[in-house]
Amino acid sequence: MSRRRGQRRPPPSRKTRRQLLAMRHAGRILARAVEAIREAAAPGVTALELDQLAEDLIRSYGARPSFKGLYNYPATICVAPNDVVVHSIPTAAIVLREGDIIGVDLGAQYDGMHADVALTIAVGEITEQAQRLLAVTQAALEAGIAQACVGHTVQDIAAAVEQVVRDAGCSAVRVLSGHGIGAQVHEAPSVPNFVDRAMFSDYDTKLLSGMTLAIEPMVNEGTAEVKLDPDGWTYRTADGKLSAHFEHTVQITRGEPRLLTLGGEQPEGDGAEEGTTPTPADQGE
Ligand code: MG
Repeated sequence: MSRRRGQRRPPPSRKTRRQLLAMRHAGRILARAVEAIREAAAPGVTALELDQLAEDLIRSYGARPSFKGLYNYPATICVAPNDVVVHSIPTAAIVLREGDIIGVDLGAQYDGMHADVALTIAVGEITEQAQRLLAVTQAALEAGIAQACVGHTVQDIAAAVEQVVRDAGCSAVRVLSGHGIGAQVHEAPSVPNFVDRAMFSDYDTKLLSGMTLAIEPMVNEGTAEVKLDPDGWTYRTADGKLSAHFEHTVQITRGEPRLLTLGGEQPEGDGAEEGTTPTPADQGE
């Protein structure tokens, strides 16, 4: 879930090894949920069905959905079909159609710690224009992640994302941002997808090892302007054009940024992930 400007949050924190293990575990569970959602997303499927699938899967691993109850949000996933930027509540009335793009954003809490991930899925065959928007948004996320290193600042991430978006002739959404994450879903610093010091104050935050950030470009085909539906949740593009969203939870290390929301069975790198392969509580593995 992206952060709205002005939402209160605790200060940036460096996580302990135990906390990082819990976040990696939550992230792997999310990666499995993402795979399940990708497989299920087809014409005729409803957003409510995807929500139920995600909730069941997250709970089967002994985790809980991070967003359920957060700011009174009622569901496990947020969905964002076509001109929706983020945060629609999944209902049976949202039915996937051939040619749609749909953003899916979800979090899981394990052992007190959260991870947060989002992706935009193509339903069947989508237009070339939509394919391009997805590719641009993914490239923006990758560019941002590449800057998430010790010695850099939040501004390095924001500027890298903005550059990719701008070069493609698209717009980064301004009223929502990425964020620090850990014991809370939304922690400082904010991680905006553009540089504008009049709008956000965290650009000079130095990245330290053990910090964890949710980096999440929200990219519009047309104008950056968005409007909020009367439900108080659904952000749409003001011009009705498409919007896409991709997100990973990233751990700052002295070396390469570590993606906590990727799948994978094997321990990676320094062995910190040993024993973290998630196992459904009710099935064993
Ligand atoms: Mg988020």
